[in-house]
Amino acid sequence: MTGDKLALVFFVDALGWEIARELDCFRDVAPYSYRQRTVLGYSCAAQPTILTGLMPDEHGHWGMFYRTEHSELSELRCLRFLPKSVSSHRRFRRPLLNYHRKHTGFTGYYNFYRIPFHLFGEFDLIEKRDIYAPGAFASGAKSIFDNLADGGVPYRVWTWKNELDESFDELEAAISGDHNMRFALHYTPYIDAFLHGHVGDDQAVAGAVALIEKKITRVVELARKARGDVDVIIFSDHGMAETTDEHDVIGTVAGLGLRQGSDYHVFYDSTMARFWFESPRARETIIDALGELGCGTTLSDEDLKREGVFFDDRRFGEVVFLMDPTKLIVPSYMGGRAPRGMHGFSPEHKDSYAMIAASFEIDPEPTHIRDSFRVMMQVAGLQAAAGTLEKHSGSADSDGMTSDGNRETSA
Ligand SMILES: [Zn+2]
Repeated sequence: MTGDKLALVFFVDALGWEIARELDCFRDVAPYSYRQRTVLGYSCAAQPTILTGLMPDEHGHWGMFYRTEHSELSELRCLRFLPKSVSSHRRFRRPLLNYHRKHTGFTGYYNFYRIPFHLFGEFDLIEKRDIYAPGAFASGAKSIFDNLADGGVPYRVWTWKNELDESFDELEAAISGDHNMRFALHYTPYIDAFLHGHVGDDQAVAGAVALIEKKITRVVELARKARGDVDVIIFSDHGMAETTDEHDVIGTVAGLGLRQGSDYHVFYDSTMARFWFESPRARETIIDALGELGCGTTLSDEDLKREGVFFDDRRFGEVVFLMDPTKLIVPSYMGGRAPRGMHGFSPEHKDSYAMIAASFEIDPEPTHIRDSFRVMMQVAGLQAAAGTLEKHSGSADSDGMTSDGNRETSA
């Protein structure tokens, strides 16, 4: 590959290694495929890792929400008195989210899901700025978009903000009409949304993946006609596991005789419960109760450090309880019912692995989603600043997390 060619990058959210391999995806346009370990957490941790080549404790994004005394969401607390039938309804939450985006100017991806409104006084969003644009990270981490901008590489990008069909149409139009464009990144959440509802239905999944494969193949064929040789990369951020069990972790913790808000604080993701404690007694009582649940693991600081998700200021939790693979916290702040599929379990679980495929042999072989950054830099003809990719090089291939973890969604 060279930096002069057009590089086409397709980011297919949640198209994991297992499903991609089973369906033998993209063999015509990107025949070299590799399994990649994901990060512990959800898309809001994995995507920044792909875009920066850094682990969450380096780029600073792990959970979608972190605990702080200075939340910019605190005005939402005024909605805490609404009846639950109103405040938890989609027809209320969706317009509220749209209004909030306009009102605040936040351009990142976020959702209020079913988070109780009174908690917005102590939890804030980590992704306030669009991570698919330069200057997104408060940590100062440089993403592929900072590098493209700094390097003067003309690029275009389509993200979750764009509709599926229009985004592919626009990409095709750019290939034909914008001969300056050297790098195009097309992200789609289509497969993620589909798998949350249909994973395990092999026929339906094959149909959905074929739809995306057909669109990508069409774009690549058009690009080869219009622009000659092009570099193609297709990757994902994580896989999707079929849900088997649900556990009422909220009910268990609420029944311990402790008071949320004064004895402890908690954020319930779909596969992780993150706790902060006001007393040793609260800490001990809750950790003991979580241990007796038999559906997950309380992660040690060593586990968090090994996964690149340990933060000194504990903004994402003092104690993280991670559900075993395929088991969900239901209800959680993400939703009231268990979706058919979820991610955010242990990166070691087979259905957690992501994939990357390319039109060329990738050397050195990619093994972790952060390697997608390196491959994007290569096809853009850019050099990463020295040292930015070295940290955590020992953690890419796994070792020892016994439980499972994940995050996000798509409620
Ligand atoms: Zn998802």
